Amino acid sequence: MPYNYDDQNIFARILRGEIPNKTVLETEHTLAFEDINPQAPVHVLVIPKGPYVTYDHFATEATDAEIVDYIRTIGKVCEMLGVRPGEGGGGYRTISNAGESGVQEVPHLHVHVLGGRPLGRMLQRRD
Ligand code: 5GP
Repeated sequence: MPYNYDDQNIFARILRGEIPNKTVLETEHTLAFEDINPQAPVHVLVIPKGPYVTYDHFATEATDAEIVDYIRTIGKVCEMLGVRPGEGGGGYRTISNAGESGVQEVPHLHVHVLGGRPLGRMLQRRD
């Protein structure tokens, strides 16, 4: 199934500079910025600059350079925000929602980096 990227999504507009953002870190292929509706004291979104909808889309079609830059930027953001465990930070959680079951709101790949408080269990089990 081909991946269809909607270039009018809100993160595409942020990347084009049409909507402001609070940038945490920008690299050649990646942008990290504060979530507009933070769910924890630390809540940063990390997005590739390329037009990728989901993690699996990115993993399938991004270049090695984009992938390395993206993964390293997420790690750097954790370091910059002081959430790395063991160095005074209390740890963090990364989440990437995809599609309907994942309840993805914005159809441009993003990893949420959350921290700054105990985050509770990952999911509530529903039997
Ligand atoms: P999703 O549910 O797709 O995983 O998460 C989308 C995230 O994007 C949400 O946490 C939401 O608060 C954030 N968001 C939506 N619109 C904007 C915006 O215009 N600016 C920023 N910085 N974050 C946004």
